[in-house]
Parts: sequence; C-alpha cells; structure tokens
Amino acid sequence: MRYFIGNWKMFGTQKSIKIANNINNFIKSDKNRNKYRVIITPPFTLLQYFSNYFKKKKIKIGSQNCYHKDLFSSDTGAISPFMLKEIGCEYSIVGHSDNRAEGDDDNKLKQKVNFCLKNNLKIIYCIGENKTHKNKKQTFKVLRRQINNILKEKINYKNFIIAYEPIWSIGTGSVPSSDQLIKITGFIKKILKKRFKRSKTPAVLYGGSVDDKSIINFKNLGDIDGFLIGGASKSPKKFIDIIKNYYN
Ligand code: PEP
Repeated sequence: MRYFIGNWKMFGTQKSIKIANNINNFIKSDKNRNKYRVIITPPFTLLQYFSNYFKKKKIKIGSQNCYHKDLFSSDTGAISPFMLKEIGCEYSIVGHSDNRAEGDDDNKLKQKVNFCLKNNLKIIYCIGENKTHKNKKQTFKVLRRQINNILKEKINYKNFIIAYEPIWSIGTGSVPSSDQLIKITGFIKKILKKRFKRSKTPAVLYGGSVDDKSIINFKNLGDIDGFLIGGASKSPKKFIDIIKNYYN
C-alpha cells in the first residue's frame, strides 16, 4: 500500500472541498486505486466539514497537529486527539518541523503519540534533519533520536506512518538524491524492523518538494511507501498528476 498525503497547511476555505472532491473522483476511476490511499489534512476549521463529506468516500481526513493532552484542558486554542476523533478525523500529523520549530519537543511529541493512539487516531509522525545537521553529517544521529523517542510506546504498525521530511527540502525545490534517499529510508526501516516484526513495520514516506515533476525521481525507490506533499497538494491537477506519474 502506498500513501499520498496532502498537507494543506494554513490554506483552504469551505469552497476548497472542490479540490478534494476532484481528487476523490479521480481515485474512483483510477485503475490503480487499490494500490494507494489518499489522506488530506486541511486546516482545523475544515475538519468537521471534510470528515462528514468524505465519510464513505475514498479520501481519508487527518489533522495537521493535535494537543499533547488527551481530553479537555484550560489551554486556550488547543484541540485534543479525543476532540479530533469525535468529529471523524482518522489521522493526525505529529511532529511536523513547523511545529517542532514552535516548541514541540521530544517529550510533548511522545505525549501526542500516546494520546492519539489511545483515542484511535492514526499517526503520521514527521522526522527530519535541518541543513546544519546535514552539513555536519548528523542526519542519522538526529533521525535515530527522533524515532527512538517514540518507539517505547505501544504502537500497532497499522496505525503509524513515519514521514521522513528533511527540513532543508520542505518548500525549497531541493530534493535528496536517489542514493541519499535509499540510504536514509533503509536506515529508518532498519531501526523499525528491530522494534517491530519484519513484516509488520510502519510505512515510511518521503516529504519535501514532491510535485508532479520530482515524483519521477522517486517512483522506482521501492523502500519508500508514499509521499507527504505540501505545496503541490493544493492543486488538484498537480496532486492527481503526482499519482499518475508515479504509476505510469
Ligand atoms: C510539508 O510541509 O510537509 C511539505 C512536504 O511541503 P512541500 O511539499 O511544499 O515541500
């Protein structure tokens, strides 16, 4: 199973349901539809509307973040995994580099992972090195720390996706070479295989400047189980072309 996940960030109004609906219509008629799953993570304001609309459709809905406490609290502006699940959300991104930069440390992320799983919210856990780490050859060290941070938690591999997103690649148009990517995803999978049974390891995705053109570089890299797509996911044509170009 491959994943194509569209992270809309802070873009979208109620009218944007058309974008997701176009993608849904494409999936319905696509001969490869059983080989992949599409998840859209719109802003919080659209989650309930999208979750209701896509309930029995192909597209799955996720949030871009969640709070690190479970049910209710007096934290202004916070939204808990329980609340997300209640409105029909199936997934949550946890640990996106935007949120790590705003203070999501290992401890908070561990709590988010725990509370998502407890509330039956599947997780898209983002990891990735920044440019300084890359230049100092600390990529593997950083990734190992970010993965090990949550591996002691009780995780069913089916409810957990890892997205490798090098920060230097997000929104920049620069992507890792195939060789780099093979090495890094191989490294991530090796850690996961030790923790999970060989055939039961979570999916490992790549994210960072994936679009209808760059996808061609990634299509033959069998170790990559899918893609987390930011900028290009707001255009239905680009998003559909990513899927088409991946399979054709
Ligand atoms: C992201 O922010 O998760 C992302 C992958 O963005 P982009 O595709 O625009 O690089």
